[in-house]
Amino acid sequence: MSLRLHNSLTRRVDPFVPLDPACPTMYVCGPTVYNYVHIGNARPYVVFGVLADLLRRRHGAVRYVRNITDVDDKINNAAREQGVPIGAITERFAAAFRDDMAQLGAVAPDVEPEVTRHIPQIVAMIERLIAAGHAYAAEGHVLFSVASFEGYGRLSRRDPDEMLAGARVEVAPYKRDPGDFVLWKPSTDDLPGWDSPWGRGRPGWHIECSAMAEAHLGTTIDIHAGGVDLQFPHHENEIAQSECAHGGRIFARYWLHNGMLVFGGAKMSKSLGNIEKIHDLLQRHPPEALRYALLSAHYRQPLDWSAALVEQSVRTLDRLYGTLRDLHDAEAEATIPQAIEDTLDDDLNTPQVLAEIARIAGEARKAETPEDRRRLKSELLGAGLALGLLQQSPAAWFARGTDAGDDARIQALIDERAAAKKARDFARADAIREQLSSEGIVLEDTPQGVRWKRA
Ligand code: AMP
Ligand code: ZN
Repeated sequence: MSLRLHNSLTRRVDPFVPLDPACPTMYVCGPTVYNYVHIGNARPYVVFGVLADLLRRRHGAVRYVRNITDVDDKINNAAREQGVPIGAITERFAAAFRDDMAQLGAVAPDVEPEVTRHIPQIVAMIERLIAAGHAYAAEGHVLFSVASFEGYGRLSRRDPDEMLAGARVEVAPYKRDPGDFVLWKPSTDDLPGWDSPWGRGRPGWHIECSAMAEAHLGTTIDIHAGGVDLQFPHHENEIAQSECAHGGRIFARYWLHNGMLVFGGAKMSKSLGNIEKIHDLLQRHPPEALRYALLSAHYRQPLDWSAALVEQSVRTLDRLYGTLRDLHDAEAEATIPQAIEDTLDDDLNTPQVLAEIARIAGEARKAETPEDRRRLKSELLGAGLALGLLQQSPAAWFARGTDAGDDARIQALIDERAAAKKARDFARADAIREQLSSEGIVLEDTPQGVRWKRA
């Protein structure tokens, strides 16, 4: 079987056929960088990162773009409150975001465009929309005329009245229609702004994704993804802008939406205040357990976040890494089993892959012959690899970060090296010595056993 994805445009699970089989394209809406992001924000980047990896395996390449929103009124407010320049806020939190994502193993995008570096493209796209009669300037603003685009509402399948209610639109005297949305707005001197044909100002939120997707992926992209909370109005508006700027050509062929991460009975969101920042969670939990928890529900379903879910994920990983530790003498490379690829092909069924991983580990624990142990270890590592799990050494997993933990991790590696030598697995023993030496740990073989010190 080949990859099938749920497409919000058709409301069906459709076979995925990229425009260019040598390089599918994907755009995922990125974060607004004015604070640490919460664990709900990580869900799209973790699950669509699994998809980016899969596409790279299947097609040899993928072009994955994930933007950074560094122009936004929330950023302006944060800068004003803290009395620092806007750039200080955006640089700090963009770096924190990248660090959080790296720790969670979220696949990095191939291009990470920032809005502030795409103002000329944004202005040019707005000019095209005005020239084509889809947008109009009024009182320093430029607005998109929703009535000018017949396909408006196709993605979210809302009728115009519902759309207005859903968007809680601002009724403003300069709007021809209350549903019209802002492409450009004026900036006072104390706000970030750029010169434009409509005066000094800054872009509205939606236009940035249309302009950056065009700049980095062209007119039509294969996959556009993001949280289901963005479907309306953000994604609906992106479609309107891009298709009207491109003479009606289709903007994104497959729209993928992840369900919401729920915490304490409601969508985790900064406005409600029921958030857990990744930055804080990482102080208390191993990053891999957070990743495991994020992949434990199907991406389109809601995911009920709780301390119990994280604890359960830690225990499951303890069991899996325990199995790998018991298999230390079996030499095996990760090979992704076909059954795992088939399961991912079914609209990225990650919970089913996790069930498969548990099954393989169970079989591995019972395996007796060296061949079976090698095969099952290879499958276990491979199945983990498909989800970005189980790729550290068992010793590193059991050490868990802290100083005392680091000593324990080093000791565990030394014990593993001794066991490897005893089993005449000199390659593994040497690899461990090399790993430790690269961390500045020196080993001394003494008659009393191995001693270690930090160089
Ligand atoms: P934002 O910075 O709010 O635009 O969010 C960045 C990404 O996180 C978007 O793709 C949102 O759809 C997604 N997102 C925000 N909150 C949640 C949540 N509670 N669960 C899942 N995804 C979310
Ligand atoms: Zn977007």
